[in-house]
Amino acid sequence: MNLADSEGLARKLLAAGYVEEPLERADIAILNSCVVRQASEDRVYSKLHELRPWKTPERTIAVTGCIVGKEGDNLRRRFPQLDAVVPIGEYDGFIADLDARYDWSAGEALPAAGRTGVSHFVRIIQGCDHNCTFCIVPRVRGREKHVAMSELLLECRQAIADGAREIVLLGQNVDDYHDPDGRGGMAALVREVERLPGLRRLRFMTSHPQDLEPELLEVMAASEVVCRELQLPVQSGDDLILRRMARGYQTRHYRAIIDRARQLMPDIGLATDVIVGFPGETDEAFRNTRRLLEEIEFDVVHLAMYSPRPGTYAASKMPDDVPEAEKLRRLNELLALQKEIAARKTARWVGRQVEVLVEGRDELGRSYGRIRQGKRAVVLGGTVEPGQLVDIRVVQATAGQLMGTRAA
Ligand code: SF4
Repeated sequence: MNLADSEGLARKLLAAGYVEEPLERADIAILNSCVVRQASEDRVYSKLHELRPWKTPERTIAVTGCIVGKEGDNLRRRFPQLDAVVPIGEYDGFIADLDARYDWSAGEALPAAGRTGVSHFVRIIQGCDHNCTFCIVPRVRGREKHVAMSELLLECRQAIADGAREIVLLGQNVDDYHDPDGRGGMAALVREVERLPGLRRLRFMTSHPQDLEPELLEVMAASEVVCRELQLPVQSGDDLILRRMARGYQTRHYRAIIDRARQLMPDIGLATDVIVGFPGETDEAFRNTRRLLEEIEFDVVHLAMYSPRPGTYAASKMPDDVPEAEKLRRLNELLALQKEIAARKTARWVGRQVEVLVEGRDELGRSYGRIRQGKRAVVLGGTVEPGQLVDIRVVQATAGQLMGTRAA
């Protein structure tokens, strides 16, 4: 979501005539912030400290993102070097203020408007109506606002016309999407977008086990365009902890979704999020999470240690009772387990032919992209232009990526 917000703001700035520059040459520095965990929030503060020597009266420092919803104008009081505090999505007023401040008309030639690469992010929902007890997102991003399907289709068509080959539909919980004009939910939206001429790939994230429509899995399975990839956070493999998190499902519901998805798409790529050390997580509860990871064998697990976020239900009502050292031990245990699982799963791709949508070149100059199941893949022997789809035969696999040569 943050990347999509940054891209949206960058597109507007480029269209208004601004150019990207390394920090030392730039007039304006904009920090897009995340506060989902204390560590992310602390990074914003340390970045603001780091920028202090960079700041001059001519230069602008702005902060946007979730920290604005959480801290608001407090930020200006704490960091006097800060010029602008910009709420998420409210970029037009900010750019108008910049325009009033900088006369760039005598500067370099204007770049072409727009910024569309191989993938184009489209935000379909802003905010979240769930109230997971650990989560600060509803507080900082507000309640859900759904973008009309007609508007979304227009944006997707334009992005494809501008060169995008892949659309990524984004929301804190995409499965809650419904068109304000009554044209249906997420499955209906995916069906409409995947039919757009010229589109080669369609991805979406993040899903929610409580809201995922069974029909969506069927639309995915029947499509040549929708990627075989599901980002479905489970958070815990223990039903009592899930209840305390107010996630709205039990592990048997979660397993049923995975079983159905695998029945329809046996090679589907699965990613999840897990929090260890949530208040009340006993050793047995942690073992249940471990068992779930062993059983499902996710391709990717985003692991985090619980950190209380001020203003959340868990922070105010549930004692943070798992010692930090134990949280870290649990985190490391699952990291090691997942490393093993990911390596085992990735090795199963060796010898198979897969289709790669090329996104760019890596640091060694090799073309890379992703396969339909979401894994990163490097094309060996010869370069391929970004935006091209190529078939490769996988000859090598690490936990992080596949490597293959062009298939005959
Ligand atoms: Fe936060 Fe996701 Fe729960 Fe919404 S569904 S409250 S974004 S964890």
